[in-house]
Amino acid sequence: MELLGVIGNPIAHSLSPLMHNAAFKALKRDCNYQSILVEEAKLKDVIYQAQARGFTGLNVTIPFKEKVLPYLTDLTPVAKQVESVNTILFHDQEIIGHSTDGLGFIAAAESELALDFNQKQVLVVGAGGSARSIVAQLLENQAQVYITNRTLKRAENLLSLATKQQLKPIVIPLDYRELAQQIDKIDVIINTTSVGMDCSGNATPVSPALFRPHHIVIDIIYNPQETLFLKEAKSRGCKTQNGIGMLVWQAAKAWEFWWGYLPPIDIMYQAVTASLKT
Ligand code: NAP
Repeated sequence: MELLGVIGNPIAHSLSPLMHNAAFKALKRDCNYQSILVEEAKLKDVIYQAQARGFTGLNVTIPFKEKVLPYLTDLTPVAKQVESVNTILFHDQEIIGHSTDGLGFIAAAESELALDFNQKQVLVVGAGGSARSIVAQLLENQAQVYITNRTLKRAENLLSLATKQQLKPIVIPLDYRELAQQIDKIDVIINTTSVGMDCSGNATPVSPALFRPHHIVIDIIYNPQETLFLKEAKSRGCKTQNGIGMLVWQAAKAWEFWWGYLPPIDIMYQAVTASLKT
């Protein structure tokens, strides 16, 4: 049997085992994917033990996406760029780190909304770890990116992601009047903050008065499936997408990295949506 797992702390609420094991079952693949709670002091040992036990790979979640970097022998170009790893492949003696978060975000928008980011004006709200991966891929897809965040310095830190060939992102303070000046030319608004998740369900990361009917509005939060941010956008005529697609597609892109092909995406979607409250 092939062994895989996700390492993090906390880990009990991770939907990764559910998604991956549902796909293995559907394909009758002899694989077992488990969640592994890791104390930070044991991180290195856990990775080396997984290698010694013959694991095919691991996923990595909060708070270890940057902390695993010293224990890897190689990084893919995208992982090197975003300095974050959510997928590990054990190959011979190599421990290779990859980041599928941004790739999963783009794949979900392409598949659910038929969205092509080339030359689109995209406002990214938030500048944390997921924003970093998403901004890197938006730039790769030749989007003009605008970034706003509660902590402006963190938004400015993302400017270094752009290469010489790419359009430089534009940082906008998280202020209604400043955002309102730019909002009509924006095509896509993405919430990458945790505002709206779980118990903060009645807050939005930017004022809903900024939404225009031509906006495509994406929230990467998947629990709840429809945040207040998305509800407000929908009520103003915007096309919307929640975070389930990104969750599923970042997992699918991990399969591509481990085995070179995609899992049954619909099975993964079903497993996630059945387990979440609406
Ligand atoms: P992170 O690195 O901790 O970043 C959090 C971001 O949220 C920062 O920009 C932070 O602003 C902002 N923020 C937090 N509380 C805020 C508040 N009260 N008001 C305004 N801004 C606030 O977190 P992350 O890993 O990027 O995750 C962010 C969200 O994305 C989480 O809800 C997570 O569940 C979701 N996510 C979804 C997927 C998926 O597959 N769908 C994948 C990854 C993450 P400051 O910089 O000012 O602190």
